[in-house]
Amino acid sequence: MPIAKGYAATDASKPLVPFTFERREPNDDDVVIDIKFSGICHSDIHQARNEWGNSTYPMVPGHEIAGIVTAVGGKVSKYKVGDRVGVGCFVNSCLHCERDLYREQYLPGLVGTYNSVDADGVTPTQGGYADSIVVQEDYVLRIPDNLPLDKAAPLLCAGITLYSPLSHWKAGPGKKVAVIGMGGLGHMGVKIGAAMGADVTVLSQSLSKKDDGLAFGAKAYYATSDAETFKTLAGSLDLILCTVSAEIDWNAYLSLLKVDGTMVLLGVPENPVPVHAFSLIGGRRSLAGSMIGSIQETQEMLDFCGKHNITPEIEIIDIQDVNEAYERVIKSDVRYRFVIDIASLAKD
Ligand code: NAP
Ligand code: ZN
Repeated sequence: MPIAKGYAATDASKPLVPFTFERREPNDDDVVIDIKFSGICHSDIHQARNEWGNSTYPMVPGHEIAGIVTAVGGKVSKYKVGDRVGVGCFVNSCLHCERDLYREQYLPGLVGTYNSVDADGVTPTQGGYADSIVVQEDYVLRIPDNLPLDKAAPLLCAGITLYSPLSHWKAGPGKKVAVIGMGGLGHMGVKIGAAMGADVTVLSQSLSKKDDGLAFGAKAYYATSDAETFKTLAGSLDLILCTVSAEIDWNAYLSLLKVDGTMVLLGVPENPVPVHAFSLIGGRRSLAGSMIGSIQETQEMLDFCGKHNITPEIEIIDIQDVNEAYERVIKSDVRYRFVIDIASLAKD
């Protein structure tokens, strides 16, 4: 079994620590990847700290993985040694269902990149805060040549999670789209939505990141702490993408939608949020949700970002600083995604 070195959470309340573990023996259809960079998603923190109640330990988080192929099995046809590749939030899906190119992430049998059980039904999966990973070739993504690996990593979750609903709800010229929360996910929504031609508004807690938001392509930027924002924007938006995981008043945001508008939940609040029927009935409005994207769509997103030269704003850290980085993400003190330089593992 190949040995990997990484960092793991050992229980919900302890910091991540160095951890050595076995990857599975590569099969004929597997690709072995030397991980170079791994993004820190807020979902990593939720799971490392068991905030969704489904965590198993030890857990190596990380599902924004970028690296280089170092070996391929005999039946691998899509990749060769030296290719620049990525791995996102899942590494297998249901083998019994007909593969649905745009909905596979919603089918039963999805195998998460970590905190999940591998396709063999017994082996726990471990993620990207590590030096290598073994992945079946159908779940590996090709990174366009013009995107540096460190900046490509966050596209594998933050990028696709915004691209998928923007594409599904047809963001484009003439569409007014708002993004609530300009963090790791949100800032990608601004960049990708603007590149699709939509008129993008940011709804942030304050105006402290306004200059950045406008530079990313937003046409307008409002503070949700200001009650005037809700009066100014009432009934004006086609699509709202909510990236906030805290409980916020969805009724207030639904009132910003036009007739037939849709608000899509991406962040996951811990507790239920009450929605008044009139918030929806009044304008035939929809409240929807969306989870990452399929492999097909993720490749489309990477190619779109390559074509439009869209990359996240990142701060590169050593893996020894991962626990401090978690605290900073929780305080919204990151511009706009932490990315771990996996070479720093050698310092331990
Ligand atoms: P993040 O970088 O922490 O960004 C979240 C943003 O929400 C913050 O930057 C902040 O933006 C805003 N926010 C934070 N606390 C708030 C509060 N109390 N009230 C109002 N706004 C608040 O996190 P992320 O990595 O983008 O992830 C966001 C959420 O999406 C997480 O819950 C994550 O688990 C989830 N997620 C879902 C999917 C999916 O497939 N649906 C995929 C990945 C992640 P401002 O400072 O601009 O207000
Ligand atoms: Zn994520």
